[in-house]
Amino acid sequence: MAKTPQEVLKWIQDEKIKIIDLKFIDTPGIWQHCSFYYDQLDENSFTEGIPFDGSSIRGWKAINESDMCMVPDPNTATIDPFCKEPTLTMICSIKEPRTGEWYNRDPRTIAAKAAEYLRGTGIADTVYFGPEAEFFLFDDIRFGQTENSSYYFADSVEGRWNTGREEEGGNLGYKPGYKQGYFPVAPTDTAQDIRTEMLLTMAAFGVPIEKHHHEVASGGQNELGIKFDKLVNSADNLMIYKYVIKNVAKKYGKTVTFMPKPIFNDNGSGMHVHQSLWKDGQPLFAGDKYAGFSQMGLWYIGGILKHAPALLAFTNPTTNSYKRLVPGFEAPVNLAYSQGNRSASVRIPLSGGNPKAKRLEFRCPDATSNPYLAFAAMLCAGIDGIKNQIDPGEPLDVDIYDLSPEELAKIPSTPGSLEAALEALEKDHEFLTGTGVFSADFVESWIEYKLDNEVNPMRLRPHPYEFSLYYDC
Ligand code: GLU
Ligand code: MG
Ligand code: MG
Repeated sequence: MAKTPQEVLKWIQDEKIKIIDLKFIDTPGIWQHCSFYYDQLDENSFTEGIPFDGSSIRGWKAINESDMCMVPDPNTATIDPFCKEPTLTMICSIKEPRTGEWYNRDPRTIAAKAAEYLRGTGIADTVYFGPEAEFFLFDDIRFGQTENSSYYFADSVEGRWNTGREEEGGNLGYKPGYKQGYFPVAPTDTAQDIRTEMLLTMAAFGVPIEKHHHEVASGGQNELGIKFDKLVNSADNLMIYKYVIKNVAKKYGKTVTFMPKPIFNDNGSGMHVHQSLWKDGQPLFAGDKYAGFSQMGLWYIGGILKHAPALLAFTNPTTNSYKRLVPGFEAPVNLAYSQGNRSASVRIPLSGGNPKAKRLEFRCPDATSNPYLAFAAMLCAGIDGIKNQIDPGEPLDVDIYDLSPEELAKIPSTPGSLEAALEALEKDHEFLTGTGVFSADFVESWIEYKLDNEVNPMRLRPHPYEFSLYYDC
């Protein structure tokens, strides 16, 4: 609900709030925060911001130019239910104190610029995003580094039939079978109450909620449904989604991961993203072309598919992302579109003849992405498709997994690794930087950050599976 700075300040007084917790997002996509005594906040804080040292924030400034300002968005003001004392929290964007400009590496600023860019094109005034982030709920996760190896061990809430591991307390038999987690009732589903608490806590946070359920993987994979929203709001909602899910899990002594592929040979966790453009309250993707889509909608798909290899550097930005994008687990592998086919990377879901529900679903993304950057990049790709009338080609209405190798070879595939996606982004980023939404400096720093901190360190480390392959060579 829209709130003015004055209303927020009055709320703080009326409720006798003592602590204001300001949250903002770093470049890789993790919320950071700092808490202030309530009297540190005044009307100016909402325009000039509150100073902090930005030098330790991943992907941001050097230590010699570290002063930054957090500018809270009053519309995001809410009470943080995980704090013991009454704590009002707000989500911030970041300003440069010296120039008073918004910071060009702040992801939330980039997202706001993308929405502004859309309005400036005259194509549409609103874009809606609806992310569906899946996650695993584990009892225990241990990972670390021994002298010779790195290791991890994950244990799901329900446990699994096929691990062959003995369970403490015995196996009571209520276990989802392999890929059968979608979705038997309790006692097989043991996470009902946790998910309900997660969903209701999100509602208290102001996120519009819809549903929750177990997911396909045989143990511990879940999804909560939140409603679509405007670009920046939707990214804010997704951050609240992750914060609430992790903190409720912690209350129950559990832990959550949004890693796209925590368990080998079982379904991974995606973050399908539904998208639609609107102008003057009218949906622009409904029309008389394929699947009731408009020509504009098909061009938007054309832009997404054309730029997908580069786009994935933002929507699937971790080395683990590419362990999910493999055949056989409902994750898309081929860059194609279709009406109902869930094996295509872009799907046009059935909308029951309701033009307002006409949208596309991009199925590649996962929740390791920074939603502000991922949504902004997808929008830029879609607008590029509309501006340049990019034809998405023929739809693929067969199950891609059933095609022969020859037929399959004609369909472009998703990149096989983060490194390949970053290479694609290096070659293809004009659709981002040409808009003024992403600066060239930001794209360069993103590629460098991902190579230096993720791709190269992963390449240098011996993998646990290498021990099974090579130890006894
Ligand atoms: N878990 C699947 C994925 O990795 C998606 C399952 C579904 O359609 O909800 O994208
Ligand atoms: Mg799902
Ligand atoms: Mg979906």
